[in-house]
Amino acid sequence: MNKDRLLKLASDPKFISGIYNYCDRWCERCRFTDRCLNYAIGQEEGHHDIENLSPEAFAETISGIFNATSEMLSEMAEEQGIDLEAGDTEEIQQRLRKRREDANNHPCAKAAMQYTKAVKEWFDNSEHSFKEKEDELNSELQLEIPDTNPYEESEEILDAVEIIRWHQHQIYVKIMRALQGKWEDEIEELKDMPKDSDGSAKVALIAIDNSIAAWEKLRTELTDEEDSILDIIIHLDKLRKDLEAEFPDARSFIRPGFDEPEKYG
Ligand code: SF4
Repeated sequence: MNKDRLLKLASDPKFISGIYNYCDRWCERCRFTDRCLNYAIGQEEGHHDIENLSPEAFAETISGIFNATSEMLSEMAEEQGIDLEAGDTEEIQQRLRKRREDANNHPCAKAAMQYTKAVKEWFDNSEHSFKEKEDELNSELQLEIPDTNPYEESEEILDAVEIIRWHQHQIYVKIMRALQGKWEDEIEELKDMPKDSDGSAKVALIAIDNSIAAWEKLRTELTDEEDSILDIIIHLDKLRKDLEAEFPDARSFIRPGFDEPEKYG
């Protein structure tokens, strides 16, 4: 995509500014696809299903958007007499590395990474429980047992698994972004502004809320796994409390579009 097309697209007032910064990137389930610039760019690039892109196609899309954006930025900087090359890039790089390292060592980031691994391990070890459940639902179907709805039940299980899997890595990623953005807190001029770190923490908290609800669903369906699932829920619940303590304003952060029902229904 060239910069003129990107500019034209970005100036369309139907798009909600920055909505894609605080979403869970699950476009397939998003009700704002027609108001999201990010989604529109993906469509224009011919990627209707961005989450399923091959690594090559994804890299090509990102690189095209990056080039167009970078070209635009250079032109704007030139107009304003700003030298984008100025500044000690090594020092900046060092600061960024340190910030990332500190964030990675934070107990919330550690707990989120532990959760990511625990989910993988749990699914690796619980195949038999899903198989047993499948057999049970098939029997209900064949025997036409009254007061059962095996189709609905299997859809609910699948939905819970999809929710858990979708957020499995995202919780860590969003927490890292929130922790790395905490430097905003130190800038006096930004004191009363909504903080990106709170927005990212809120996305992580919502991902945790949805994941806990999905695990609860699995817990009622896979009775053999009750204890192992309970351990995971306890871990997630603690992470949720710790994150809320670390970002006390996160829950009240207004995400563009999603938290503006009076404007967007
Ligand atoms: S706001 Fe919706 S459509 Fe846009 S990137 Fe996020 S999930 Fe996808």
